[in-house]
Parts: sequence; structure tokens; C-alpha cells
Amino acid sequence: MSEERIRALGLLSGGLDSTLAVRVLQEQGIEVACVNFHTGFCIQSHTGAMRNPKPGAPPPRHDALHAADKLGIRLHMVDIAEDYVRIVTDPKHGYGKNLNPCLDCKIFMVQKAMEMKERMGFHFIFTGEVLGQRPMSQRRDTFPVIDRESGAAGWLLRPLTALRMPLTEPEKRGWVDRERLHGFSGRNRKPQMALAAQLGVTDYPSPAGGCCFLTDENYSRKLQDLWQYRGSRAYAMEDILLLKAGRHLRPAPGFKLIIGRDEAENHFLSGFTEGRILIRAKDLPGPLTLVEGTPTEEELILACRLAARFGKGKEVPEVAMVIERDGNQEMKKIVPLPAHEIDEGWYV
Ligand code: SF4
Repeated sequence: MSEERIRALGLLSGGLDSTLAVRVLQEQGIEVACVNFHTGFCIQSHTGAMRNPKPGAPPPRHDALHAADKLGIRLHMVDIAEDYVRIVTDPKHGYGKNLNPCLDCKIFMVQKAMEMKERMGFHFIFTGEVLGQRPMSQRRDTFPVIDRESGAAGWLLRPLTALRMPLTEPEKRGWVDRERLHGFSGRNRKPQMALAAQLGVTDYPSPAGGCCFLTDENYSRKLQDLWQYRGSRAYAMEDILLLKAGRHLRPAPGFKLIIGRDEAENHFLSGFTEGRILIRAKDLPGPLTLVEGTPTEEELILACRLAARFGKGKEVPEVAMVIERDGNQEMKKIVPLPAHEIDEGWYV
């Protein structure tokens, strides 16, 4: 009679640590599959589609998909964006340096992975977390909180830092050999890099790359602005997507401009005209601008003057601007706003 093969489900970002965690378990003959969660704030989900590629730069890639391919494992891509709203808007454990609710986020993802473990018959789950590597979620006092509040206590193995943690069920039951796990800690990544070399892992992204817009100061400021002027912390998927593209300027509380910075962003913004006003120069190259909110007629003229300023319009005395709203089109001739009249405080 053949012995049952032990199956583990991991959280995979495609960074060095989660990739190594997979390899460490594979080395023990464990069958590994992984999950990558889409929250709506993931940097790699849409950025490739909304930026002009830099000349000579490699084509954009999705790190988790790329890593799974290299590791030869099955990757489940799971969209949790709808439920994730409450994690971002009302995190029980608060935010990190920016609007990143890392501890609540980790608890939520581990909880979702536990549900998949039960449903899909995995023996245990694992992450690439390393003690002391991240200030908010990877600490000696936060690991037990993640384990307890996600319902994963005992069933969540952290292969890279396990020797510094209490025994887990997979170790107690002899499914995993603790002797072949690791005790990494802190922010020094040299031990992981040495292990990567030993295990033949060579193609991994730089740790500085980041994977989540919520840790980004500029993005967080725009999200805060959105909440402040809406008077509520609610958001829809297209709100948070639009915060990833264009220049954002708020000349008055009642309206905001989103101005495309290149052709790819113009194209991206053109998909979000419903419920917004679209402005573009009639006969000159320039950005596509979306106006959100309820500008007065005077404010709309200011929006047109500003929009013209960011295109070739700034080089001519007068520009014809096309304004589209609710399926109707009108044209206004305006004088582009001189640079000195742009208030730096308008930039969100
Ligand atoms: S960086 Fe973003 S995805 Fe990662 S734990 Fe924090 S909130 Fe979650």
C-alpha cells in the first residue's frame, strides 16, 4: 500500500522568501501548491497595462506566476478584493507607516488559506515569513496573533524561521523534518541568499520592489484624500485603480482632476468615463483628463485651463477643449493656465 503524500499549501508572492519556503518543503518530498491573493492594491496586477514600457526594460511580469512556473507548482489566483475592503477601511490592529493594514491583512490571508486547506484537503499551510523582517506583521509578538486570529494555530508552518518558533502540528506528526528547517531572523537577507544559491534559486525579484500600493506614501495620500472628500472610508474597485494612474490635483474640495502622464495612462483613463467628466484638447496633442466630483462651471473652466497646461496647449495662447459628460459633448476655448498660477497645494 502506498503511503499518502503530504500536501502543503503556501502563500506565494514570488519574492525570495516565499520561493525559498516552497523549495525547503519540496526538498523534503512534500507536494506543494500555492495561493496568491488579489486585493485590488497589488502593484503587479494592473501597472503593466497602464505604463508605457521604458526603452530596453524587460516586459512586465507577475512575480508569483513566474515563480510558480519556475518551481513547477500549481498556483491558485484568488480574488479577495471585495471582502478586503473592511480590512483596509477598518483594521482592528491599525495601519503601518502608511495605509498598510499589514497585521489584519496577514490574518485575513492566512484565514482564507486555512479555508482552502480544509476544502482542498491539504495537510497544512505555510508562509515565507521571517521573524523580525517586517516591523508590523513579522514580529515575535505578532506571529501568535496571526496564528490565533486566523484560526491557523499549529497548522501554519514558517519553514524559514521555524527553529525560533514553537513546534507545529506538521512537525509533531513527523510530516516535516524540523532538523531540515531554518531559524532565520532579522532584516539581513544574506542567509536567505546563501540558501537560494544552495537550492539553485537564482531568478528572484529585488526585495526593494514591493508588492502592495498601501505601503506607498504617495498612493496612501491619494486614498486618504479620497476618503476625506467623500466623507467616508468606502471605496469601489475603480476608485482604487484610478489612484494608481495619472497626476491627481484637487484645486477645490468639490472636484479632482486625474491627468494622464503618457499614452498608456490616457488609454487606461479612457475606460473610466462613466460618472466622470472627460476633458481633452481638440486639435493638439496632450493628456486625457478625468474630472471627478461636481465642479461649478467656473471650476470646470479652471479644470480645462489646467488640463491644457499639461499638454502642448501650454505653448499657444488659446486652446479649444472638448468636454464630454453623460454622453454629451461641448467645446470651450480657454487660455491655458500659466505655470505660476498652479498652486503646489493642489497636488494630491
Ligand atoms: S504589504 Fe500589503 S499585502 Fe503585504 S501584508 Fe501589508 S497590507 Fe498586506
